[in-house]
This record gives sequence, structure tokens and C-alpha cells, in this order.
Amino acid sequence: MKVLKFGGTSVGDREAIEQVVAIIRREAADAPVMAVFSAMGDTTDRLVEIARLAVRQRLDAALQWLGQLRRRHFGMARALITGDERYQMLRDTLAMYFARLEQMARSLSVLQDLSPRVQDEFLAHGELLSTRLLQAVLAERGLPAVWLDSRRIIKTDATHTEAVPDMAASREAVAAQVRPLLEQGQIPVLQGFIGADAEGHTTTLGRGGSDYTAALLGSLLPADEVQIWTDVDGILTADPTLVPDARLVERLSYREAAELAYFGARVLHPKTLAPAMERHIPVWVRNIARPDGRGTCILFETGPTGAPVKSIAYKKGITLITIVATRGWKPHDFLRRVFDVFDRYQTAVDLVSTTEVSVALAIHRMPHRERFVEELQQLGRVEWQADKAIVCVVGERLRGRSGIAGEILAAAAPHPVSMISLGGSEINISFVCDEQALPAVIPQLHRRFFAKRPDRRNGKAAKSPAKRDEHHQLAIREASR
Ligand code: ADP
Ligand code: ASP
Ligand code: MG
Repeated sequence: MKVLKFGGTSVGDREAIEQVVAIIRREAADAPVMAVFSAMGDTTDRLVEIARLAVRQRLDAALQWLGQLRRRHFGMARALITGDERYQMLRDTLAMYFARLEQMARSLSVLQDLSPRVQDEFLAHGELLSTRLLQAVLAERGLPAVWLDSRRIIKTDATHTEAVPDMAASREAVAAQVRPLLEQGQIPVLQGFIGADAEGHTTTLGRGGSDYTAALLGSLLPADEVQIWTDVDGILTADPTLVPDARLVERLSYREAAELAYFGARVLHPKTLAPAMERHIPVWVRNIARPDGRGTCILFETGPTGAPVKSIAYKKGITLITIVATRGWKPHDFLRRVFDVFDRYQTAVDLVSTTEVSVALAIHRMPHRERFVEELQQLGRVEWQADKAIVCVVGERLRGRSGIAGEILAAAAPHPVSMISLGGSEINISFVCDEQALPAVIPQLHRRFFAKRPDRRNGKAAKSPAKRDEHHQLAIREASR
């Protein structure tokens, strides 16, 4: 069994959707498959904006934007579905969702309050719309696609906007509602990103969460593989928007991929790898525009590759906080008190570096600043700098490689580095620099570690299906070792 996930750009226009249909047809020829879809294109961003406009009482603007989304979805439906009856059914369903969105926008503008619960309900419509459309397209092209509501399958807690899945309840739902369809040769079509809490209220798994949905379903079935189809050839040696000649990384371990995702490589949602790793399910990242390309295969171990560095990621919007103890705390007590404050404000620390009397911490979101800072100031002198970035260099066994940290820092020069973390994980060396230095620092690092290797992305990008299959079988054998 395979779980195939298609991202926003993969379902963003007509040609891409035709490509998706061809991929599903091909993958379904030799194994049962299910499909998970994100919202079309930038629909989720638009919905966020519409909800915000509505609460700020700019209802006219909100409804105008909603009208645009509506036209885009109806236009796509008309262009892709030719059967009158099927088109009318789809049109009625889409119209019902848009009527609900409009109703919600109007209520938001009266209440002037956007609770996380209402936001989840609102945003979920992006995936509800795209999956209705895709199911109709697949059915019209003769594929046995069945639409399912992920809210009846991915059961979560009630942490709206970042819900945590209830694996036991979801496993039961998958066994009862999804597995039988696969066994009958049907193709279940589900929404990524969304779920529901025990009371049936819609929840979401966090922005970009459709990858996570695919991995959860893969683990719950369990599937033999999860395929993440997107708009790049796989996981690349760096973000291609900063490094246009970034190359494909053919193999990564779960740990390497998880570090890259956590430190900003947007191509995978950070939580995606954990469920797959638990069940040793290979995760492939592949390009819908090049279905015969090799893609990236993520597995337990990748074996020796010769190159110490596999890929470089970065995370923007970092604040660096330094606290220097002023009261003569005992060193262990000082650190405990500092972390207590972060715990109380539910703030994750991305990197940390300490001496006996001071600590520097890199965090992604600064909580309600004043009270948070006041509490820290009771422990010592506090300084903070915003607009920083974390750069993360990933590769198996980086720790302990002599001279590697020096090479990394030299490659970042002359841009100042305000913190370095080495040793926290054996596969990651990270440092903090100014956010505005990223467009220079990332390409410099990339040149330093990838300049001499042959370009395997643009050269022989496409392997024959038979060759890909061989590669694939090898990967799966390794995964199940
Ligand atoms: P989808 O809509 O398919 O989920 P995303 O936009 O979320 O796609 O993720 C794919 C994008 O991630 C790519 O277009 C690329 O710009 C960006 N990206 C950032 N870092 C990397 C990386 N190391 N490898 C591949 N893509 C990356
Ligand atoms: N549509 C959602 C988002 O844009 C989920 C996803 O794309 O993975 O965040
Ligand atoms: Mg994504």
C-alpha cells in the first residue's frame, strides 16, 4: 500500500492536475494507493487573509477575495469535468462550501474575534474544496476514487492550529474506514492538514501539515511507502530559492531529514518523519513535473556517501536572548530557573549555549514580550537581538569530524556569527547569523561543500522506470532490515 501526497502547487493548475491523475494511475497499477491533497495553490494563505480582513471589519474586501477563490475553483471544475451530471454535483458541493465560508466571514465581522477554533474551521475549507474537485477529476478519468472526510479519520486533541493526533483513535478509524476501501481496490481521497477533536470540532495540524497527514496515514495503515509529490526534484542540498543550482540529495536518514525540516527546509513539515520512522516506512520526495526522476528516499540509515555534509537549511525570524546571572545563583539553579520561564511561556528553544553565569538562547517566537522579559530580568541582565537566523548544516556523523566547524565558520565569513551549536546532535552543526546575511551565507556554504561534486540533478535527472524500481527495491530492502 502506498500513500501519495500532493502539495498545493501540484494541484494549482490544470496541467499539474492532469499530471497528478497520470501519477496516481501509474502508482495504482501495481499496489493499492490512497491520495492526500493540500489546498489548491495559495488557497490557505488567502483564507487566512480573508478571515483577518473580516475580523477587522473589512467585510467588502474579504468577500471580494472570497469571490476570487470561488471563481478559481469553479473555473477549474468547469475546465476539468466535462460530464454534466458530475459537474453539477461538484458545483453544488463547492457552492455549499463557499456559502459556509461567506456566512463565517460575515459572523467574524460582527463578532470581531477570530478564535483558533473558528480559524481551523475556516481554513479547513481549502482542503475540503480541493479534494472534492480532485475526487471528481479522478472519477471522471475512470479511477475508482472515493472521497473521505479526514475529520472522521485523523482524530486529535483540541489544540487548535497545532493539534496533536490521537493515534489509537485514528488507527481504529483507519482500520474501519480506509483499509476496507483499499482492499476493495478503491482509491481513498483525503484532505491533508485537517482533523477533528473528540467533540467533532475541526482541528488543523499546523501550516504545511499535509505532509504530516500523509505520514500519519502511512503509519496507521501501515503502508509500504509514503510519497510526497511536490514542485522540486526532491530534497535538495539547499533551498533552491537561494541556491538555484542546488542538487538532489538521493538518500537521507529520517534523522537528517527531520533536522532539515525542523530547521526550515520547507519541503517537509517537521513532524512528518516521526510516524514514518516508528514503522520504518520509506518516505519519498518526488517532483510531479518529473515523475521518472529519482527523487529523495528517506530511510533509517543511508550508508556511507563520502560527503560529510548532505544539505543546508535555515530558519528566519530568530531572536537571540542572552541572560547574564546577577544574583550569584548556583549554576544549575540558574539554568533551571531560566528554562522554567521558557516552559511557562511554552516557548521552544532552538539552540542554547551556556557558561556558568550566562546563557544564550535562540528562539523562534518571542512570547508576549514585556512580562516574559520581566520574568527573565529577575534572574539576571537580559539582552535580546531580533532579525536573526539559524543556519543548520546536516550530515551523518558530522560531530567529531576534525576541522568541520572551522570550515563552516570560514565559509560564513565575513558575516558575523553570534552563536554556534555543535555536539547537541551528531548530525547537525548550527550557527546564528543576521537574517539579512542569508542570501550571501547560504550560497557561500553551498559552494564550499558542494562545488566540486558533479551535478546530478540536471544531468541524468531521469532514470528509466525500471531503473527507478531497482533503486526503490533496494531502498525498501534496506528499510526493512
Ligand atoms: P508543497 O506545496 O508541495 O507542500 P512546499 O512549498 O511546502 O510544497 O515545499 C516545496 C518548496 O520547498 C520548494 O519549492 C522549495 O522552494 C522549498 N525548499 C526549501 N528548502 C528546500 C530543500 N532543501 N530542498 C527542496 N526544497 C526546498
Ligand atoms: N494547505 C495547508 C497550508 O497551506 C497545508 C499544506 O499545504 O500542507 O498550510
Ligand atoms: Mg508543504
